[in-house]
Amino acid sequence: MKIKKNVEKAINDQIAMELASAYTYLSMAAYFDRCAFNGFAHWMRLQRDEEEQHAMRFYNYLHDRDGKVELQALDKPPHDFTSPLKVFELSLESEKKVTASIHGLYELAQKEKDHATVSMLKWFIDEQVEEEKSALEMVDKLKLAGDHPGALLILDKEAGQRSGG
Ligand code: MG
Repeated sequence: MKIKKNVEKAINDQIAMELASAYTYLSMAAYFDRCAFNGFAHWMRLQRDEEEQHAMRFYNYLHDRDGKVELQALDKPPHDFTSPLKVFELSLESEKKVTASIHGLYELAQKEKDHATVSMLKWFIDEQVEEEKSALEMVDKLKLAGDHPGALLILDKEAGQRSGG
């Protein structure tokens, strides 16, 4: 069954949101690489990869449903970061927006009785729980570390051990 135009449009918007998110994480990685926080930079690069995979999951799905992928312009990502805590707070805020967007898409698919899209989105709903959890965990730890260089370096090292997938 060919996908409805309004659902197709909403998925294209979601592809743009995931790619914008990947672009922002790359900008965050660049900030950390500049500050020699190599572990946080590694964490951000892996996160960038994940966002691209999210975009590609929607991209493949649209093709599976005989839909049209229409890529959009991306805004310049934020770059004027001031501390690791601020960066991860922004990441958490951005993941909450993505969650809200996925939930909106899910509700649209339900309204349109597009059961295949409803089913596909369940993976993303679970994934967003993980995304918010891992960003929140970093925010909480960075708040505990405060301005102590030793504590920040321990967290940086820990972030550097994050594995992909
Ligand atoms: Mg994502």
